[in-house]
Amino acid sequence: MSQQQFENFTASSLYCEKCKAAMPVRERLLLILPDKEIYDYLCTGCGSSVGQREVTAGDKMMAQAMAPQRRRRAPVQRI
Ligand SMILES: [Zn+2]
Repeated sequence: MSQQQFENFTASSLYCEKCKAAMPVRERLLLILPDKEIYDYLCTGCGSSVGQREVTAGDKMMAQAMAPQRRRRAPVQRI
């Protein structure tokens, strides 16, 4: 995964085919696996899924290291 892709995800905006524009997206936890979590990205304009993202344990550790105290938007639900 390249640095550019990572920046796209953190921008919380993805291209939506229905809206024909880059739209703000909502992140929804779709699936929890032993070694990774899969998130679904929903367009806030029309509600359709515009992408998915897999977060591995390594990615989570890196994200936490980069932003240790920031939890202003943390929809992750521990089950
Ligand atoms: Zn849309």
